Amino acid sequence: MEAVQNVVIVGGGLAGGKTAEALREQGYAGRIDLIAAEDHLPYERPPLSKQYLAGKTPFEEAVLHPESWYRENQVTVHRATRATTIDTAGHRVTLDDGTALPYDKLVLATGSTVRRLPLEGADASNVHYLRTVEDSDRIRDVFGEGRRLTIVGGGWIGLEVAAAAREAGNTVTILEAAELPLVGVLGADIAAVFAELHAAHGVDLRTGVRLARFVTSEGRVVAAELDGGERIETDAVVIGVGVAPAVGLAEQAGLAVDNGVLVDASLRSSDPDVYAVGDIANHDHPVLGRRVRVEHWATALNQPAAAVAALLGGDAWYTELPYFFSDQYELGCEYIGYAPPGSYDRVVVRGDLPGREFVAFWLDDADRIVAAMNVNVWDVVDEIKPLIAGRKSVDADRITDPGVPYAQL
Ligand SMILES: Cc1cc2nc3c(=O)[nH]c(=O)nc-3n(C[C@H](O)[C@H](O)[C@H](O)COP(=O)(O)OP(=O)(O)OC[C@H]3O[C@@H](n4cnc5c(N)ncnc54)[C@H](O)[C@@H]3O)c2cc1C
Repeated sequence: MEAVQNVVIVGGGLAGGKTAEALREQGYAGRIDLIAAEDHLPYERPPLSKQYLAGKTPFEEAVLHPESWYRENQVTVHRATRATTIDTAGHRVTLDDGTALPYDKLVLATGSTVRRLPLEGADASNVHYLRTVEDSDRIRDVFGEGRRLTIVGGGWIGLEVAAAAREAGNTVTILEAAELPLVGVLGADIAAVFAELHAAHGVDLRTGVRLARFVTSEGRVVAAELDGGERIETDAVVIGVGVAPAVGLAEQAGLAVDNGVLVDASLRSSDPDVYAVGDIANHDHPVLGRRVRVEHWATALNQPAAAVAALLGGDAWYTELPYFFSDQYELGCEYIGYAPPGSYDRVVVRGDLPGREFVAFWLDDADRIVAAMNVNVWDVVDEIKPLIAGRKSVDADRITDPGVPYAQL
């Protein structure tokens, strides 16, 4: 194989930044161009709905590397610049400033864009979404004692914003279409833990409701109107109804796309010189034996090293199990594995479910652990990982017995 001399990374989020880092760590000495639509160096988003949103940590703590790192490592960051077209035959990326960059290998890390609600009034000035640091700043501006905040969507983002807003003294209402928040991800028993947590912190959690429209006055939402006409008066709205992979560029380039960019075990797309990492990668996972696209921090953090090893000519597969974490009030949790609805048979719990200190296990019909979540219990992920990756049946009764070490399951 000819030596790789030009690598272009499109997307300046965590996955893009980690790709640049992995290239230098793995000894690549050629040119690196990192194209970042945002006017920032790559940064991590989890604090935007947690410590940063709460005003407890500065933005610098979320930034992956300072400017000096990119200078010292000779990574050219094109900030506030979008890649507009990819010519795979000519091995060239065109940017919105007219520059055309040649590449030997291209890494797509364009991440996700928020889903917008096409509802009457949703374009009002006090309706917010949360993806960028600027979004987080705007939401923090509506925090304050007694100010009414309506959150549409009881997913991770909605719940974390609710927790930060309650701690800031806001009156918070969550509108959720399902019967419980997070029920699609966690199932009813564990989702109920989160519903109770928020109720205990004074959130008005309205489940099984449908939002009909926003009532506006002078360009601002003054109430959220439900199907049936009930109005919830509000000072601001945050919408957190999920994200979609940013695949426009990949589609234009003619890559195989289906719920993200289709990549093999090595994160290589249908074009052998183009890789995809992070939120946009629909990965053929060699351990899970199925395709997964994971919209979480750890994937953006860890996939780049495998993609880089492969693009530099190695024989690397990405084998890490999906992992994520969340923090809400005094509850911290980590989730490892993959258990979409229909993939598991039941959930068993070790520990104190009502006391919110437990580990939950999702079991399939052969009593294999497909996923686990530790809530206010720490340092267990590394012990649980091999149980999931091993894909062997376990004794369900022993799982619930706290006296049995995980290694003996
Ligand atoms: C508020 C918030 C809180 C979160 N909290 C958690 C958490 O607690 N735990 C967890 O596991 N995960 C969390 N996540 C998810 C996690 O942040 C994402 O999975 C991660 O950001 C994905 O990284 P990425 O680099 O793949 O994509 P992104 O972070 O979306 O970055 C992609 C970047 O590419 C840019 N881009 C797109 N198209 C182009 C183009 N054509 N040209 C140039 N640039 C382009 C985008 O502007 C963006 O800056 C959270 C996300 C958000 C928004």
